[in-house]
Parts: sequence; C-alpha cells; structure tokens
Amino acid sequence: MANYDPSQGAAWHLENTYASLPTTFYANVKPTRVRAPKVVVKNSALGASLGLDMNDLEGDRGAATFAGNLLPEGAKPLAQAYAGHQFGHFTMLGDGRAVLLGEQVTPLGCRLDIQLKGAGRTPYSRGGDGRATLGPMLREYLISEAMHALGIPTSRSLAVVTTGETVMRDTPLPGAILTRVAASHIRVGTFQYAAHYCSPAELKNLADYTIRRHFPDIEQTEGRYLFFLQAVTKRQAELIAKWQLVGFVHGVMNTDNMAVSGETIDYGPCAFMDNYDPATVFSSIDHSGRYAYGHQPRVAAWNLARLAEAFLPLLPQGEDTAVGIANDVIGHFPVLYKQAWLSGMRGKLGIFNEEEADLSLAEDLLRMMQEQRADYTNTFLALTFEERSDMEFFSSTGYAAWQARWQSRLHRQPQSGPEIKQLMQACNPVLIPRNHRVEEALREAVTHQDYSLFENLLAALSAPFTADPKYSHYRAAPSPTSLPYKTFCGT
Ligand code: AMP
Ligand code: MG
Repeated sequence: MANYDPSQGAAWHLENTYASLPTTFYANVKPTRVRAPKVVVKNSALGASLGLDMNDLEGDRGAATFAGNLLPEGAKPLAQAYAGHQFGHFTMLGDGRAVLLGEQVTPLGCRLDIQLKGAGRTPYSRGGDGRATLGPMLREYLISEAMHALGIPTSRSLAVVTTGETVMRDTPLPGAILTRVAASHIRVGTFQYAAHYCSPAELKNLADYTIRRHFPDIEQTEGRYLFFLQAVTKRQAELIAKWQLVGFVHGVMNTDNMAVSGETIDYGPCAFMDNYDPATVFSSIDHSGRYAYGHQPRVAAWNLARLAEAFLPLLPQGEDTAVGIANDVIGHFPVLYKQAWLSGMRGKLGIFNEEEADLSLAEDLLRMMQEQRADYTNTFLALTFEERSDMEFFSSTGYAAWQARWQSRLHRQPQSGPEIKQLMQACNPVLIPRNHRVEEALREAVTHQDYSLFENLLAALSAPFTADPKYSHYRAAPSPTSLPYKTFCGT
C-alpha cells in the first residue's frame, strides 16, 4: 500500500496513541483495497477544520484515500476490540467493518479519530463481509451532519466514496465507505471488553488512557475513576436530553454504540419523530420497543450501570463500597437528565427564569400533543412564530387553557416579547431531517446517482434554526399513511 509523498501531503497530522494501549485492545489491520473508488460526497468545511487541504484530496487521490487504498502519512490502521450488550445480551464484538487510520491533531490542537467505516474484514468481523452499502453511509453522513448543526455532540462525516464493488445484502447493493471523525470511538462496550477479557492492569490502562484523552482535568486526581464515572454520566444525561428535545430516536442504544466522550455515534436505524409519541420506534428489529423515544433516558442509565460494573475493580474496595459508590453515581442520572431536559424545554417555551411548575407546564403540553398526534417540531415552531391557525392542535379543547397558563408564565419574567421570541428561535429548529425527505434524497442518489436532492437537503439542514423560504418545503410533516415508517440497521 502506497504512502503519501509528504511534499504534496494533504496536511495530515496523524498520531496513533490508541496503538500505545496493550495489543489486546486492537488488531493491526489494513483496509482491504477496493476496485474503483469514487468520492460522492465530501465535507470541505470539516476537512478545513481538521487542517486538511481538501484540494489535495480531490479526484483520484481523495477517492483512494477515503477508500483506504492509499494510506495517509502517519496512518497506523487498526480495528478496535470491544464487547457490548446488544438488546440486553452480552456479546464480544469489535470493529467488524471499520478501520481506524489514526488520530488527526487539528490546528486547534484537538485529537480526532479518523475512521473508515466499510473498509473490509477485520479479525472482529465474525460472519460479516466488512463492507457497507451506499444508502446507509449517505444516511449516516446526512443525519450526523444535521445533528452537528442542531448543536448536538456527534461524530462527524468527512466523505463517502463508492467502491465500484457490489455488496450482497437481500439484494446486490452498491458498496460504499464513510470517513467518520469522532472525539474517540471508546465505548461503554470497550470497558466491558476490558473487564471481561483483560487483566485488571489492562482495564486500568484503558481507564487512564481514556481519562487523559477526554477528561485531562482529573488525570492527576486520586479518585479519578469515580470522577470519570460522574463525568460520563453527566455528559450522557446532557446528550440524551438534547436528543429528546429535538425528537431524535437513536434506535440501537446497545452499550457498544454509546461513546464515553458524550458524542452520538453509530447512526444505523435512527430517525426523527414527526408526531409526538413517546412510544415511537422506527427500527425494524426493535420488536419490543426497547429503544423507543420515551425509553432513551432509561436505557442510557442502564448502559451507564454496565459501565459502572466494568469499573468496579478500580473503585475503592471493601464491603459493598465499590457497588454502593457506583450505584450512587448512576442513580444520579435521572436528576441530571431532568435538569438538562427541563432547561432545554424552558428555552423551547421562551422561559428564562425558573419556577417549579415549569415541569408540569411542559408535560401538559406534551400530553396534549400526544393525544392530538401533533407534529413535535412544527408545534414548537408554531408557538415560536405565532402561526397557529393552520394546525388543528391549536383549536383543540385544552389548548386555550394551556396557552393562558403559558402566557401568564411568560409575564412573570422581565424579558420582552422579542427577547422571548429570540430564545425560542434559538431553541426550536425549523428543520429536522424529515424521514420522507431523507428517503427521497437517498433514493435519488442510490438509484439514479443523482445527488442534487441530497446536497440540497444537506445544505438546508446545515442551518436548521434559520427560516429560509428556499427550504420551506422541508418543514412539512409527511402526509399520514397507514404504513409506519421503518428503518434498517444497514449492515
Ligand atoms: P452495529 O449494529 O452497526 O453497531 O454493529 C454491531 C457489530 O457488528 C459491530 O461489531 C460491527 O462492526 C459489526 N458489523 C456490522 N456490519 C458488519 C459487516 N458487514 N461485516 C462485519 N461486521 C459487521
Ligand atoms: Mg456499533
């Protein structure tokens, strides 16, 4: 495999600190060459923030790089080992189709994983082919970038290439590789792997590495493992609150799909809710609704309890001490979550100060929305822009009384009408990736190699809080159908 000539490099500055961990945590593996790579989407703005010269990554050179055929200077490709609870069952997993090229150190000094998803078989592939297909990779690109623009911590997407190869699923599909950028890919499942399959010293190694990478402030602290659990719990509580506030359903919150950095990772069957309903499930494999919208906070707490279990050997020992401490930390999740969610809900309702009854004000609105099957995003938008006439919800019995309560609540704060509207505009997105729009864009791209709808939707979603008339068609909820929207893991 060729390496870059540094004199014409794209300014890669890759380091490989993960490879300094004991070798049990990864397998050195190179991406498997693909036949005819072609860049179909690339993220120039993200590339620039990584310090990459995206002009140098045009054409064949870019295609070869994002396909893994040409390794950037400094790359030391590896697949990470991890385990995880999938739908409640513990399994040994690992990167079965992803290869980490290294960590790009950006001009601002951030360290970000550069990973190729769909790069071929690894020692963790089990029965899989190590490949990915175009539709799901474009989906991850679009939704992750939309999440970023919504202000939600997430892995990012740098490029998608088609491989020129066919991948067999239920039908033959075009192969593709996504270049994913993330604070790290260290998961709750990485610690479960360490606790189950590695020595206590190796577990400690991983914990210290992760603390140095994500929580350097506590690196020298005596009780750092406990602080780590607290910090991860807080980040997850804030993350899940942000998901709930925009109606995002992850769909497959297995412990291997939860990053300890607090970023959203692994966009498989995720989708955004249209009408408000806590029971919303999109994933075709989530038969029991384990990962329904309304269950996400509880699932996050459950996953964090698995993280705490993995950490038990590192916590102060003694009769029940470690277990008690871990329980206390994780037991705090609902409080942190509620705080973060309520604070976001206050913003969505234009409330600046705090009153105890704010919770019931928000909950009562949601209850009515659920009863009326009101569109989540557009109801809050209608409240923001006072455009209530064209939504049935606002003529429902109960709404007038709620509105009177809300208005009197707004008067119990010093802020003016324009200030309230400004806060609401900043907290209520005009655009989310509507499922029917995502499907339409992906269909055109995959079936007809026409990326115009995809690019247009991507552009619209990059400024989701701006009411641009050019993109107003993306605001409409889908027309009701008898068939519920279904998503697939896209492996
Ligand atoms: P996911 O549901 O995407 O989080 O994947 C769960 C596990 O299956 C991970 O270990 C993946 O690396 C692995 N996996 C998914 N698809 C494939 C594939 N096509 N080939 C090999 N491994 C895969
Ligand atoms: Mg995964």
